Amino acid sequence: MRVPSDLLAAATKDLADLVSIPSVSTRGDGLGACADAVEALLQDAGFRTEQHPGDVGPFVVGETGEGPFTLIIYNHYDVQPEEPVDLWTDPPFVLSERDGRLYGRGAADDKGEFVSRLAGWRLFRSKHPEPLPYKLIWIVEGEEEIGSPSLTRFLKTRFPDTKADLCWWEYGEVDRTGRPIILMGFKGVLAVELDCRTARADLHSSLGAIFDNPLWRLASAVSSLRDASGRILIEGFYDDIVAPEPYSRELTATAPFPLEDLQAETGGHRLLNGVDATTFYGHLNFEPCLNVNGFHGGFGGEGAKTVLPCSGVVKLDFRLAPGQHPVRIAQLLRAHLDEIGFGDIELRVLDAEVLGVRSDPSHVAVGIGAALLEKSFGRPAIIQPSSAASGLAHPFVHAFGATLFGAGLTHHGAMLHSLDENIIVEQFENMIGFSSDFFAALAENVGKQSPEAPND
Ligand SMILES: [Zn+2]
Repeated sequence: MRVPSDLLAAATKDLADLVSIPSVSTRGDGLGACADAVEALLQDAGFRTEQHPGDVGPFVVGETGEGPFTLIIYNHYDVQPEEPVDLWTDPPFVLSERDGRLYGRGAADDKGEFVSRLAGWRLFRSKHPEPLPYKLIWIVEGEEEIGSPSLTRFLKTRFPDTKADLCWWEYGEVDRTGRPIILMGFKGVLAVELDCRTARADLHSSLGAIFDNPLWRLASAVSSLRDASGRILIEGFYDDIVAPEPYSRELTATAPFPLEDLQAETGGHRLLNGVDATTFYGHLNFEPCLNVNGFHGGFGGEGAKTVLPCSGVVKLDFRLAPGQHPVRIAQLLRAHLDEIGFGDIELRVLDAEVLGVRSDPSHVAVGIGAALLEKSFGRPAIIQPSSAASGLAHPFVHAFGATLFGAGLTHHGAMLHSLDENIIVEQFENMIGFSSDFFAALAENVGKQSPEAPND
């Protein structure tokens, strides 16, 4: 979609300015400066703005409009560290254009997403300067890349009674064939560590005739947790799962890409039992899973060492479905270990903050968004009930009651968190055009109606 060239040039300049601020939340660098720049952009675009301190970086809020419908836009201005810098083709904090792409740290994640929406907003306002007939709250945080440690608390204190209809999530995807993907949900996360110690120090392995071995114990404990089909064997694990709505099921009946493509791209070739070309997409969307992230202990050096190690550690993560609470799952895991004789294995919860969510894809705004994405990108949009990955979306979905709507320009070769992060200029333009159309369509279709019933 063509947008006016001066508007595209201004958006590219905004993006270059933001990329030039190395707002790396891991190091706490440049966050205040970047928050100021984001606030200035929102203010310039007609928003009432504020900043609030976070644990690490400030929150920026922009508000405008009034009406029975509330749209929340969520973005973040912090980025991942740029290291190793020498592997980048061009310096990471200078936006550079090559072969129809814009490169730089944050070009996609999430500064490019933010800027494309803001440019779309400007385009919309140039054609519709009248008061906005819905409420728009734009929240831009600076701690996303370190797990949003203060987001939930901030939303609760700054917006204690706010209800919202739609939450336009910080990103959306574009697949390798140029089809926009609307994400309607995310999985939750539980990350834990299992520690086992059986002696004061490593022992001569001859004593394995009488003493148990911590790595054996951990191996047995871990193997009791899952079967070869990936089904998790902890009692009660599946009890609280919210079953997919019929429409969400329907959306996954045919996968939008063949399993072979994913296998070719990743080199992954050992499928779980029961996963095949017809079922894999449903699994990615709806099934929880348990990963062994790392198994450590004992001797791993060259050659042999006949030793009986005294300790070992295993790190696990669960991707959880909506309805499963990570804290509850950790309790069930503890009970499982105790039950089968592993009471001595210490369970440490590393992350139990992110709950899975899945919104109703039949929400009117989602249908409008899908049609407009098709118009902008020239390809039918894919509505995906849930990402296979996770995002801290539950404060927006549970507390605000908003329907999640993840549409954006993060293409599948965007190299997020890696070197040569990039967006495709044509898709940047498409997203600006889409954003403008979407703001306008919401004004026309939902701005004057009473809000849709909130959903989970
Ligand atoms: Zn990121």
